[in-house]
Amino acid sequence: MKNRFNAALPLSVISFFLLASGAAAASRPVWLVAAGKTDITPNLAQETVWLAGFGATGRKPTGIQSHLYARALLVSDGHKTVALVAVDTIGLYRRDILDMRHDAGWTGPDRYMFVSATHSHSTPDSLGLWGRFPGVSGVNQPYMHRVIAAVADLVKTLDTQLKPARFYAAETDVNPRGLCRDSRDPVVIDPELDVLQFRSLAQPSKIIGTLVRWSCHPEVMWDDNYEVSADYPGVLCRTVESKTGGACVFQSGVIGGLLTPDVDRKGGPTQEIKEMNRVGTTVADDALRIIDKAKPITPASVSFSSRTLMIPVENSRYLLLLPHLTYGHRIFGRDGQPLPWWMKYWIPIKQLLFFPLPKAKEPRVKTEIALVKLGPVKILGVPGELFPELAIGGYHGRYRFGHPLIKPNNPNPPDLAEAPKGPYLRQELHARVGLIVGLANDEIGYIVPNYDFKISNTRLMLPRLPGDHYEETNSIGPSATGILLNAYKKMLAR
Ligand SMILES: [Zn+2]
Repeated sequence: MKNRFNAALPLSVISFFLLASGAAAASRPVWLVAAGKTDITPNLAQETVWLAGFGATGRKPTGIQSHLYARALLVSDGHKTVALVAVDTIGLYRRDILDMRHDAGWTGPDRYMFVSATHSHSTPDSLGLWGRFPGVSGVNQPYMHRVIAAVADLVKTLDTQLKPARFYAAETDVNPRGLCRDSRDPVVIDPELDVLQFRSLAQPSKIIGTLVRWSCHPEVMWDDNYEVSADYPGVLCRTVESKTGGACVFQSGVIGGLLTPDVDRKGGPTQEIKEMNRVGTTVADDALRIIDKAKPITPASVSFSSRTLMIPVENSRYLLLLPHLTYGHRIFGRDGQPLPWWMKYWIPIKQLLFFPLPKAKEPRVKTEIALVKLGPVKILGVPGELFPELAIGGYHGRYRFGHPLIKPNNPNPPDLAEAPKGPYLRQELHARVGLIVGLANDEIGYIVPNYDFKISNTRLMLPRLPGDHYEETNSIGPSATGILLNAYKKMLAR
């Protein structure tokens, strides 16, 4: 008996290890990756588009300065797959994103399409805000349908091309002097540059795709430019693609409140092109330098979560423009029930007749927040233009980079004693490499810290107060900030 027991034990131990190692081999995670791009440049001979980005009317483009692309990086662990898509456009509404997911058949629980806009300003109006006249949409619907179909096709194609890959991730702070500045007090410039890169497992020298996330408005090409341009993200991606041979996805970070290129535009569009090339290649070179030194990340699981939130439309101008705003959003009542389609026309009329619209009658729109995890790397999606200070703090001057924290002549300076104390969103993300990505899966406008949300008439949201208070007039309303931040707190605590 004793002998048989002793003999049986090692056998059972061996078979346990064989079984366990076999099971582990079968489920051992491996990064599966594909990356690519598709051209979405408008055909100016056939498609009438209006350039977005500045003032209340669009600019009729006279030519193509650089091509526009939708780029995608698909990452899978064999079970769940995420598509990180970036589109050269001023912004996309949630309905556009839902259409892309629907057209690609990416609506199930194992696939998630995380779509962000590069926010390049010299791109066709996609939000209905820059038409021929103020208040008239400049959106060319067939062009938008073409963009949505192109993104869906790209993702579907890449989904069939997933290959085993090594994953590298790096993050550094870049001195923003000469690249990006903050036009609104307090000066808080997010210096974080994040880079993800996937190289073929079979051919380690082959780079499949690179993702770069950095924070600054893509508006080097100013309102005197009349050509379609992907702005500095186009240059950045072109540089990375020519040096690595793989596709490059650019994600815009936290750019509200308001991070704008630190460039010299004297000399008009010719000088702007030089400056755009300088900013794009400088950031691309920094990105490639830091990723070259990165160590590979052990294969792990891919996961994602997303949540929809109801945001009240408080901005009276947005209420008047409701037909445009709802071009990309269904509207809901206070009770969360969808409102009939004609309400988007009736609410603006009611608002004019019975101004101001009673609080209880304010419609709501549904927006989306998202968290993607690629092993230890986290990507947080923000559906608008988040003020950098809401992400990283910096109210005591940590991120002012030699600029005065508050301009001495600011007529309505922020009261920093009232500023939120933290922890801030970037800390709550708890990741060594953590990307906070703006204009992701929707665009609801600027997300302004409540302590500095100053407006002469809170119901009218106009006129703008003297000083740095432009962003309030282009935000959906003061309630959005708290709703979003509370939802992120819950999402990240889980
Ligand atoms: Zn913007």
